[in-house]
Amino acid sequence: MKEIHHWIDGKEYKGTSGRFSDVYNPATGEVQARLSLITKAEMDDAIARAAKAQIAWGATNPQRRARVMMAFVGLINRDMDKLAEALSSEHGKTFPDAKGDIQRGLEVIEFCIGAPHLLKGEFTDSAGPGIDMYSMRQPLGVVAGITPFNFPAMIPLWKMGPALSAGNAMILKPSERDPSVPLMLAKLLQEAGLPDGVLQVVNGDKESVDAILDSEVIQAVGFVGSTPIAQYIYERAAATGKRAQCFGGAKNHMIIMPDADLDQAADALVGAGYGAAGERCMAISVAVPVGEKTADALIEKLIPRIEKLKVGPWTAGNDIDYGPVVTKAAKENILRLVQSGVDQGADLVVDGRDFNLQGYEDGFFVGPHLFDRVTPDMDIYKTEIFGPVLSTVRAATYEDAIKLALDHEYGNGTAIYTRDGDTARDFANRINIGMVGINVPIPVPLAYHTFGGWKKSGFGDLNQHGPDAFRFYTRTKTVTARWPSGIKEGGEFNFKAMD
Ligand code: NAD
Repeated sequence: MKEIHHWIDGKEYKGTSGRFSDVYNPATGEVQARLSLITKAEMDDAIARAAKAQIAWGATNPQRRARVMMAFVGLINRDMDKLAEALSSEHGKTFPDAKGDIQRGLEVIEFCIGAPHLLKGEFTDSAGPGIDMYSMRQPLGVVAGITPFNFPAMIPLWKMGPALSAGNAMILKPSERDPSVPLMLAKLLQEAGLPDGVLQVVNGDKESVDAILDSEVIQAVGFVGSTPIAQYIYERAAATGKRAQCFGGAKNHMIIMPDADLDQAADALVGAGYGAAGERCMAISVAVPVGEKTADALIEKLIPRIEKLKVGPWTAGNDIDYGPVVTKAAKENILRLVQSGVDQGADLVVDGRDFNLQGYEDGFFVGPHLFDRVTPDMDIYKTEIFGPVLSTVRAATYEDAIKLALDHEYGNGTAIYTRDGDTARDFANRINIGMVGINVPIPVPLAYHTFGGWKKSGFGDLNQHGPDAFRFYTRTKTVTARWPSGIKEGGEFNFKAMD
């Protein structure tokens, strides 16, 4: 059985815990590797080594650090297919989708080549007589990234790019479900010129996460995962005075106005609802057509599109629409929620419960499901299902539709389909959700903007990537300086206005 270990001080480290977790091939249901899980003592040691390595890295000029990112971009492109294969085989997503996962992370590394500009600080000449004032952005020291299974390339890259190019060392704790790609990325960073010890990839479960949270050395934690864990990490990180940005789950609504192009809306819903088997934090999981006529017409357009979806393993070719979900437990949870929807009175108009893929009977495949006449009190509406299940909630008016999204506890992404600029503008202004699409179903901002949800989808006050990431991974020091002519006049004992 293949074993997967850790990456510490620029080489593979096997670990001594004797504890392992299984890494599956979700398409066949077979265990394809054992992942070794780190102990608290080993984690503390990896952190101490990172702290040592950070001193020289933090003192390296920003342009040299940026050149490492530049070389990294070239190496990721060189190994794109190899990375995508490893990603698909552990996660299950299709090969083109795996490349998209890597590409959206790569774009953040490209953005980080401009880090020197973002680290420049501010300067005021003659803030007072003979006084200059300047602010510097300095690295925090050692920071941590804790990442989810559903984007095993993109989210680690979103964490490591800004943190490292700002001069920090990073402890990356990837998901135990699909750990290979983060390890491959760490090796590529070494090849790109990153000094050993500056990025430690440490695999583990709750024990390793708690060691990160309780460490007095680690200064910041960037987390992405489910909401209960995000909230737990935010609270426990704060107890030791760390910065934390913790991004959680989602229930993204798409509102379809009566004037929308319904073919466009239906195509968008199918891609955004079922792509990656619905295992995206920006997936649309709730469709809200406004008016009975819109709802009837939309359902009629959705059904044939959903029934045509091709579900299969990534090895079956690039025309597969989506692959298996990540684990057997995930599959069972999705089917349990589907059953609850039926029991609580929703109309299951496309029923994927009996889906079976010949030759892959033990794989974690879930057929596509479409619910109509879902109501806000149902579990399928309140819960993040994270599977290929789209719920339709019929709204009588635009105000009823926006109220649903406003009142939902999650606030990651949302979209509106309309031809009316005034409605779209009102929606974008009033909605309490972090990322909004206007006739765009999955509005994931590009690398130079920032990504982050509101309400229970995000804890903390700065977003991922874009300029916010550099604010998160640096702290500001402000210097007020007066040179000899001021000192000649003797000491000052009172606060002085800068007049
Ligand atoms: P998860 O919360 O189970 O795991 C995320 C990370 O936390 C993993 O590294 C895992 O090892 C660790 N972890 C799990 N249980 C823990 C515990 N009890 N204590 C400490 N650490 C623990 O999430 P997941 O299933 O890997 O990912 C799917 C979730 O992530 C979904 O809810 C999805 O919406 C969310 N997500 C959010 C965003 C976003 O930007 N908002 C992006 C991607 C995924």
